Amino acid sequence: LIELDRAHLIHPVTSYRGHEATGVKVLRSAEGATVTDASGHQLVDGFAGLWCVNAGYGHESIVAAASRQMRELPYATGYFSLGSEPAIRLAAELAQRAPGDLDHVYFTLGGSDAVDSSVRFIRYYWHARGEPQRDQFISIEQGYHGSSTVGAGLTALSTFHAGFGVPLSWQHKIPSHYVYRNPAGHDGNAIIAASLAALDAKIAEIGGPQRVAAFYAEPIQGSGGVLVPPKGWMKAMRARCQAYGILFVADEVITGFGRTGPLFACSEDEIVPDIMTVAKGLTSGYVPMGAVFLSDHVYGTIADAAGSSAVGQGYTYSAHPVSAAVALEVLRLYEIGLLANGVKAGARLMAGLQSLKDHPLVGDVRGRGMLAAIELVTDKKQKTPLPIAAEPARRIFDRAWKNGLIIRAFPTGVLGYAPPLCCSDSDIEAIIERTAKTLDETLA
Ligand code: PMP
Repeated sequence: LIELDRAHLIHPVTSYRGHEATGVKVLRSAEGATVTDASGHQLVDGFAGLWCVNAGYGHESIVAAASRQMRELPYATGYFSLGSEPAIRLAAELAQRAPGDLDHVYFTLGGSDAVDSSVRFIRYYWHARGEPQRDQFISIEQGYHGSSTVGAGLTALSTFHAGFGVPLSWQHKIPSHYVYRNPAGHDGNAIIAASLAALDAKIAEIGGPQRVAAFYAEPIQGSGGVLVPPKGWMKAMRARCQAYGILFVADEVITGFGRTGPLFACSEDEIVPDIMTVAKGLTSGYVPMGAVFLSDHVYGTIADAAGSSAVGQGYTYSAHPVSAAVALEVLRLYEIGLLANGVKAGARLMAGLQSLKDHPLVGDVRGRGMLAAIELVTDKKQKTPLPIAAEPARRIFDRAWKNGLIIRAFPTGVLGYAPPLCCSDSDIEAIIERTAKTLDETLA
């Protein structure tokens, strides 16, 4: 398998030759929060795949929902006003649970195309409002919004920019709230004030609010290193956008579906965005699916202007009935105990990671619910990053793997945690113990 992989399979992001040198790690099976590799080595999946297997592995009821739907109706397009029962029911169930008036759901295949579609809906919206010159978009440094050209351009991580001409000319960034390294200090109010000032300045630079279509924010920046904004940050940014008449988009691809506690992080932030994007936990990673939620006013404006003419976007697999059937079952699981277990396990995870705070390599511990990170430094006072891309820390991921733990090792020296919400106390204990062992080995 390693030879075949080396010869034929192109992996996302992994550096080409570096990856060929170390060889692929082949996963064979999984149950709950435990993954087994091809050699029989068992590991706790501290990252739920790629922040997605929120329900954990091996849920027979999810498998049953998928196979039932595959037998009954494996495919139905949403084009030509066709539909399937699971897709319609799922849209209704989601609309009922989404914050405020986010009542209109557009299904995609994942997060990138949800973000991509949201940009198009926003363009339709401003055309419908007779303000087509509102065509500039603002997002945040350290943000991640997907791999499509549009999403990669809204993303502010340079790995995802190299070589294909993004960001596009209409995509702008403001600095992140990044509490641990914010030049405005650690005070929440000062950070919020700095973010608001940065937004004001960027809007002015672009040509005023009448040029700006939308602002994108993750409730917690995930791929940028699990950056948790100060309390009130989302609310303040949302209010400022509203004052300018700029649409506010919450990208909940990672934070949605119990990752931070509730079904949607926005409800904890006490905001209702104009648009919300989700994926990952929607189907718990068992099958691909994402979605865009549009508020009544955004959907209504587009629909009224379009009248009976077609709105030009969609995918062959939009609202796929098997994905919808899986999502309906996953939603049921969240509500009969998974969300509650995630809250309990999340508190344990944060307490456990906090207990590592005095380790010489740990500069910062942060997170909310089952989304957490520790930031590694070589000098705590100077906050000198321990870049995982470089020796001696490069092998942290491999070291954790040997110790029976899957974590995310960000090149900036951040270790990310997003375990399945089904984790037991002993799963969380294993995550903490194996992290401590890995840090000690890194220090040695
Ligand atoms: N938005 C955010 C906030 C994400 O974290 C991701 C994926 N990590 C995406 C969009 C893109 O999702 P996908 O990989 O499913 O296309």
